[in-house]
This record gives sequence, C-alpha cells and structure tokens, in this order.
Amino acid sequence: MSKKRRVIITGGAGFIGSHLCDFFMARKWEVVCMDNLLTGSPDNVAHLLGAPGFTFMDMDVSGFLHLAGPVDAILHFASPASPIDYLEHPIQTLKVGSLGTHKALGLAREKKATFLLASTSEVYGDPQVHPQQENYWGNVNPIGPRGVYDEAKRFAEALTMAYHRSHGLDTKIVRIFNTYGPRMRISDGRAIPSFLSQAIQGKPLTVYGDGTQTRSFCFVSDLAEGIYRLLNSRYHLPVNLGNPQEMTILQMAREVLRVTRSGSRIVFRPLPVDDPKVRQPCITLARRLLHWSPKVGLNRGLRETARDFKKRLAATRR
Ligand code: UDP
Repeated sequence: MSKKRRVIITGGAGFIGSHLCDFFMARKWEVVCMDNLLTGSPDNVAHLLGAPGFTFMDMDVSGFLHLAGPVDAILHFASPASPIDYLEHPIQTLKVGSLGTHKALGLAREKKATFLLASTSEVYGDPQVHPQQENYWGNVNPIGPRGVYDEAKRFAEALTMAYHRSHGLDTKIVRIFNTYGPRMRISDGRAIPSFLSQAIQGKPLTVYGDGTQTRSFCFVSDLAEGIYRLLNSRYHLPVNLGNPQEMTILQMAREVLRVTRSGSRIVFRPLPVDDPKVRQPCITLARRLLHWSPKVGLNRGLRETARDFKKRLAATRR
C-alpha cells in the first residue's frame, strides 16, 4: 500500500491557500495548513477541521518553523495579497516574503521536500512589455506603496533559485496573475470582491481612474490545477499561471452588474499610486510544459463567485 503524501501549505487559510487545501485533500494527500490569520480566515478551512489527514497550525511562518515527520512538498502561499493589505501591513508583507520564504525553504531542505513558491505577476510591476512573458524582468518601483509586495516576491524568487542552485533543492516558482473565486475576503479591496459586494448591496461600483487599465482574471479552480501540475513537473524556472482573457476594469464592473442583475451605478475614484496600466499573462510556457490552460469562462466563474458573496453577505446581515 502506498503511503499518503504530505504537503504543508503556508497561508492555507487564505483565499488561494484554502482552495489548495481542498484540492490536495481531494487527492488524498495529508495537508498541514499553516496560517497566522492576519488576512486569512478560519472560516475558509472550517469544513476541513477534524477531517482525517488535515491539520491546522496557527503560526507565523516568518518565525522558526518546525514540524515533526516527513513532508513531501511545501507550498509557500502565506502573504497579504491585496493592495490595501500591503498598505496596512507593509512590514509583515516584507517579512513573510523574505524571512517567511527563508524559513519555508529551510524546512523544505531539512525534509528533502519539493518547494513551490507563490510568486506573482507583480514582479513585472507596471509592465512595459505586453503580454508578460517569463523572461521579462519587470518595471517595479521599489519604494512605492506596492513595492513591499513586489520586492518581497522578487527577493523570494531570488532566494528560491539560490536554494535550488546552491543546495540542489527541488523548487518551483509560479507567477500568479489576478485570480478570483469564492472565499475572497469581502472587504479585501480588490476589484472583483469590491464590485461584487457593491453590486449585491445596491451600492455604487467604485472604478479607480478612468477604468481603462486592464487585468486578466483567472478562476481559482483553474489556478489550483495549474499549480498541481507545476508541482509535479521537473521545471525550476518561473511559470506564469493566469487567464489571458484581458479586459478593462470598466468592462469588469459592467460584467459584475450584468451577472448580479444589479441596478447600481458606476462611480470613478482616484487611481492608486503605481497601479499597473496593463496586465495579461503569456501562458505559452504553461501550455507547453504543463499542458494547462484555463477552462472556466468569466460568466461561469463570476456567477459562482457571486453566489458565494451573496450567501456570506446575507449571513453578515443576520
Ligand atoms: N480597482 C477598482 N476599483 C476597486 C478596486 C480595484 O477600479 O474598488 C482597480 C485597481 O485600481 C486596479 C484593478 O482594479 O486597476 C485591479 O485591482 P486589484 O486590487 O483587484 O488587483 P491588482 O491591482 O493587484 O491587479
């Protein structure tokens, strides 16, 4: 009988982390979810608590990390991940990307586990190359308000490659583009959660700038599948994962109004500092290497996310 494989997911109580916990549990892995609940929520993994093979550890991965027993993989997903979170927690963002990555890499080395870093399209900053390919070095303002996240992730990539080259650690780096789906924090300030909660509550949708800036949104189940494939690959350099369907933020606001059948207005608010003007992943590498491409279209993904938001918003009103 083959032994169950065991994965540590840092940030496992966050939006993407909790979907990964589900994904690995469904594939019969043992899952250790580590989270200090700074921006994650126990509600995201409440359905897994007590399930055989699932462990939740309330801990800050920027401090000393220890876990008894063998580990096959460490997925490092702990980090604030929304621009308003970086503003509120700039030092924790820098610490978890630097010290947290160091600790997670150290544990992976001790356990001879595969290490997968959740990096980001933010390493490309406000890109001057479009769409963004993995070989683009980016255009990041190191001292701007978003710099705490962008530079922490850039450092995390550098450290991961150094562990791979110096210690022979089996490492993977995924550059995650905008992702959405159920369990996004209602008030995390990102475009889709803001628009959905505003539309559902009949409040005006706040589009920043003139709304012509673009993003490309990937549904979370597609991302989880891509991450799993990358983990099982033999490739060590960064790989973009995202949905190349690019749209303006104003188009997205209109899509949300359509899907929620909301009569809310759209209002325009100032554009945040260093807000990237365009973003679209080139996923040629992921297609070739992982035979992966997103399957969930925007209509279906938004409907599923809206259902979840309606349920949670109704629960907060009770
Ligand atoms: N945005 C917006 N209204 C909001 C929240 C965000 O117009 O209420 C814009 C934001 O300025 C950016 C885009 O939507 O241009 C995506 O923002 P988000 O915070 O979701 O992600 P990121 O900027 O990190 O891609």
